[in-house]
Amino acid sequence: MLQLYNTLTRMKEPFTPLKPGEVSLYTCGPTVYNYAHIGNLRTYIFEDLLKRVLSSNEYRIKHVMNITDVGHLTSDADEGEDKMEKGAAREHKTVWEVAEFYTKEFKNNLADLNISEPDVWCKATDHIKEQVAWVQKLEEKGFTYITSDGVYFDTNKLPNYGKLTGQKLSELKEGARVEKNSEKRNPTDFALWKFSPKGSKRQMEWESPWGKGFPGWHLECSVMARKYLGETIDIHCGGIDHIPVHHTNEIAQVEAVTGKPFVRIWMHGAFLEMDKTKMAKSGENFITLQTLKDKKIQPLSYRYFCLGTHYRKRLNFSWEALEAAQNGYENLCALTAGLGEPKIGCAEFEKKFTDAVNDDLNMPKALGVVWDMLKSSNPPHAKKASLLKFDEVLGLNLKDAKPIEVPDDVRKLMEQREELRKQKKWDESDQLRDEIADKGFRVEDTPAGTIVKQRRRV
Ligand code: AMP
Ligand code: ZN
Repeated sequence: MLQLYNTLTRMKEPFTPLKPGEVSLYTCGPTVYNYAHIGNLRTYIFEDLLKRVLSSNEYRIKHVMNITDVGHLTSDADEGEDKMEKGAAREHKTVWEVAEFYTKEFKNNLADLNISEPDVWCKATDHIKEQVAWVQKLEEKGFTYITSDGVYFDTNKLPNYGKLTGQKLSELKEGARVEKNSEKRNPTDFALWKFSPKGSKRQMEWESPWGKGFPGWHLECSVMARKYLGETIDIHCGGIDHIPVHHTNEIAQVEAVTGKPFVRIWMHGAFLEMDKTKMAKSGENFITLQTLKDKKIQPLSYRYFCLGTHYRKRLNFSWEALEAAQNGYENLCALTAGLGEPKIGCAEFEKKFTDAVNDDLNMPKALGVVWDMLKSSNPPHAKKASLLKFDEVLGLNLKDAKPIEVPDDVRKLMEQREELRKQKKWDESDQLRDEIADKGFRVEDTPAGTIVKQRRRV
């Protein structure tokens, strides 16, 4: 049975959706003012693995992802610039052009990483009317107040505010950023609608009952999740940075209006780090998928790299670790290609694999099962059949793995080398390895067999 860790209850729970056989899933999408970095992409890979595991448990999924194209400010404390307007100024383009460009780039990243797209993409700017209507509902219920720069949610009015963090409101207030906006009643209060600043013209702004402005970032996810998935949704995901502010506020806005639980299971992916610091778009350790491609690292090697660490554990990035993952992935492809046609799988390993992925997506353990199976004495056709099944969850495109073309002279050298190895004539077999390398190929002996690969051109 599938077990998932729920941030809300801080426990692994057996999963059952609200509607039998069907799962509603909302995942926070990108703020499209810049390229996604590989840290962001780690979170999207985790969410894709979740979808694949749900599918392997025969659930149908309705997946909604937003595109944040307005209202995400540079500070979580409702201050600072709108990231989108800042991006537009940097690139001397309109905000709309910037949003379109980076949305396209993001979708290309998803395709490169074999991440399936959501059933519904929704943009914040396409849902202004719905967001204004939601603020009106909150206003009618007495949850809002107005300051000189916007309409705010009064977090003191909602019992249970902050339940996702496991902290009391008083603790959250202490931890909240100290701000210049002294008109806020509580440090945890947040903007639902921000007024356009006086004296400067924003590219994106709309009329509202409270004045010209734009919606707060948290509001879009609440409103669009509810619109496309209903009042209570099964699973909502994002990175762990979203727990204390963004997701906490999404819950507050919805539950204040509906009085019902907004989300049943909250799932959060841990950070990709570099030198113990979170990878961030504003930081210097900003690596994109293109940076990897420029260094001849295939995007799917990065996916394989991510599979090696559980999604709730921090993952430290280093070029050496990534190259090792690329080598592991290439070996897996080469071995898969050499297995011939699939026929009846290895039941024992398939069971172990399912148990691992159903245990809160334990992908490192699942990869261990893959390699154990390859090393086992099962016949090649059975290994191939199981690998193809595993790959429906792993998403590593193993079905497309092709044996590399090896010229006859190299193949002969390989056969001779194999013979020498059997006779334990290591020095001579190493000499042949060098001869093979001179011809542009490299052989690697793994516990699952000998692999031949094209020599890397660096
Ligand atoms: P953003 O485009 O900044 O809104 O972030 C998109 C997603 O990436 C969100 O779910 C974030 O929580 C997540 N995220 C941001 N930084 C990292 C990181 N270093 N590692 C993993 N996920 C991250
Ligand atoms: Zn969101």
